[in-house]
Amino acid sequence: MAEKNRSGYRLQTELVRGGMERSGFDETSEALYLTSGYVYGTPEEAEAAFKGDVDRYIYSRYGNPTVSMFEERLRIFEGADFCRGMASGMAAVFAALASQVKAGDRVVASRALFGSCHYIINDILPSYGVETVFVDGTDLDQWEAALAPGAKCVFLETPSNPMLEIIDLQAVSDMAHAAGANVIVDNVFATPVLQRPMDFGVDIVIYSTTKHIDGQGRCMGGAILGPDWFDEDHLKQFMRHTGPSMSPFNAWVMLKGMETLTLRVERHCQNALQVALHLRELPGVNRVIYPTLDDHPQAALVKRQMTGGSNIIALELEGGKAAAFKALNALKLIDISNNLGDSKSLITHPSTTTHQRMPEEDRLHLGINDGLLRLSVGLEDVEDIKDDLTRSIGVQG
Ligand SMILES: *Cc1c(COP(=O)(O)O)cnc(C)c1O
Repeated sequence: MAEKNRSGYRLQTELVRGGMERSGFDETSEALYLTSGYVYGTPEEAEAAFKGDVDRYIYSRYGNPTVSMFEERLRIFEGADFCRGMASGMAAVFAALASQVKAGDRVVASRALFGSCHYIINDILPSYGVETVFVDGTDLDQWEAALAPGAKCVFLETPSNPMLEIIDLQAVSDMAHAAGANVIVDNVFATPVLQRPMDFGVDIVIYSTTKHIDGQGRCMGGAILGPDWFDEDHLKQFMRHTGPSMSPFNAWVMLKGMETLTLRVERHCQNALQVALHLRELPGVNRVIYPTLDDHPQAALVKRQMTGGSNIIALELEGGKAAAFKALNALKLIDISNNLGDSKSLITHPSTTTHQRMPEEDRLHLGINDGLLRLSVGLEDVEDIKDDLTRSIGVQG
């Protein structure tokens, strides 16, 4: 990791300054290069650029100085060989898979996934002739069995959406590598601040930077980080020719988001833990799931691979959909939204929104019943968040 962080500054300093390239105008804040193309002084220069003899910007689908600053800042923080800014989190998920698999390959994934990730693996990849297998992510025997016939790659999310299941990154990485597969982890819920998948053997990490990295609900974005071989052999050409690159404006917003990422994530964690403890005491609440609560089913694993619980809470209300909708309708502060990781507290009813497409049997198998709500705790005063929940859930009777 040290050699990947050439400045020698500590990671918090890199979040504020990493990747900064000042223009000739000596600006304090990172410059926003809103340009799609670049000009050449001579045709010889253009020829050399296209031949790859000189390293320079050619076209913003390939690279852009503001996007490069964002990529370098996140790359240093994650400790990866490379980072590519992407148009959205889903562009990152799709490119990480589609750039490396071909017909006849096998992908093994955990079942508890963000809805669109499930669609890519369950619907799109099989239509291209890729075999895909889902396992219960917390059951290591299922991973072992699914990986045994040989696999190209593994895709998983931990903590998972919305039930906050934790998957053992080291154990799955070891099994995957033994089977010749590389491991892709969607690290969105944990954020790069609270979980460092590469420390546990994971090869490729993806983010929806739309979530905590922007964190203020403004822009879509994503990122893929990993080892040089993955970029050189697969991703670089896929990116150039299919075009899911990040816009410079969005990269600029993400750069500024990174400067306050640790501060925001720390406060998100403090607020979420207090809200989770409060919800546990409320009548009408059957179950509260939050990674750092002592009754989390994988509390020991949480301690081993995460340094905080992040800001998502799953809570199950007594009384099913009617009770859940009644509570949602009574909220005054917390907004109903399927987004998450925002400074504003947001809540959603997964079974009728984000997981509506999932067959009921699969949904119930994951524990997503009609009384379940997913709360993304924001940065408001925690007492106001608690008051809003107490009042709304109390409306039940
Ligand atoms: C939001 C999200 C995505 C998709 O990201 P977009 O930026 O919305 O495309 C993927 N995985 C997880 C876990 C997410 O929360």
